[in-house]
Amino acid sequence: MEFRGLKAQYQNLKTKIDSAISKVCSDAAFISGTEVEELEKQLAAYVGAKHCITCGNGTDALVLSLMAWDIGSGDAVFVPDFTFFASGEAPAFLGAVPVFVDVEKDTFNVSVQALEEAVIYTINNTNLTPKVIIAVDLFGQPADYPGIRKIADKYNLLVLEDAAQGFGGAIGNKMACSFGDISTTSFFPAKPLGCYGDGGAVFTDSDNWAELIRSLCVHGKGRSKYDNIRIGMNSRLDTIQAAILQVKLEAFKKYELERCNSIAKKYTEMFSNTYQVITPKINSGYYSSWAQYTVVCKNMEQRKQIMAGLKNNGIPSMVYYTKGMHEQDAFNDIIYGYHDYKNTQYLVSRVLSLPIHPYIEYKQIEIICDVILNISKKGK
Ligand SMILES: *Cc1c(COP(=O)(O)O)cnc(C)c1O
Repeated sequence: MEFRGLKAQYQNLKTKIDSAISKVCSDAAFISGTEVEELEKQLAAYVGAKHCITCGNGTDALVLSLMAWDIGSGDAVFVPDFTFFASGEAPAFLGAVPVFVDVEKDTFNVSVQALEEAVIYTINNTNLTPKVIIAVDLFGQPADYPGIRKIADKYNLLVLEDAAQGFGGAIGNKMACSFGDISTTSFFPAKPLGCYGDGGAVFTDSDNWAELIRSLCVHGKGRSKYDNIRIGMNSRLDTIQAAILQVKLEAFKKYELERCNSIAKKYTEMFSNTYQVITPKINSGYYSSWAQYTVVCKNMEQRKQIMAGLKNNGIPSMVYYTKGMHEQDAFNDIIYGYHDYKNTQYLVSRVLSLPIHPYIEYKQIEIICDVILNISKKGK
């Protein structure tokens, strides 16, 4: 059984993807081909942002955004403690201090209350200047943007939406990748919309920031790549990846996203009233793109038993994530004292992500749930 269904997806889209790839090969415009510009227009229209600038990967997208805001030494950037490393790596890479913030147990997203506490702590106890909130749409569900925006306004902070896992999600009819002052996503193959290698994108309504980021991702170009007016990086989406993404975006919009939501619903129904694992909470009015379907086990022992039982039945499962950001050795030198991560601590020993993708069948979900329910009944 596949965890993310990338093989099944290719078999379904093979004819279109093969012809898209071979067109790029014949045109030989491997960098900045027409497909890149077309894709950027389609992505911007889909998420409802004025500008989309594609780039090399989701991590670069975060770094480019922070560079456009001139974030660096002496700045505090608030980052959820329970996320993929890159969310904290990007500000640290630029010399800023990531201040990690506890999350909610049920949605896995940043706790707005803990966020305000961390901002106040930083103002009162450090000489850092609070600048940016990086909000992560973890496992596909948008973070609490109405709450986050209130804190941002109150303390004059910018919001950077890390929608690497969130592409396709929504709050009401407002789409993920449109909630930040700048928003970013990743096209890493296993993300909700993935390409066949690395890729990423930045979204914003600001003409100024868009222009800056277009320059920063091509060596700080001015009028041309050979007229360099600032220090930037080399971070572009390959034309082949853009061509693949055009095909995949069509399927994503047409049925893949909806299908993932039906699969998630099926899981939640199967587990309801069993009291064996806690199913993920989607806030009312929120829509998830289901980058992961993550349940919370009773304890580490039960999780171990479930994982082993699934493995015996040829079913893959994964633990996202095994530690909080504040526990990562890479951040040892820049921990500034603020320490309250009880929900992250609770989650890292209990979360378990189960197979979910548009091509998995209901029958397979039933098998997975039966295996889990049988194991946990036998246990405590
Ligand atoms: C995957 C991911 C990234 C980084 O994306 P890459 O394309 O792998 O660089 C950043 N943030 C989050 C939350 C992610 O899941």
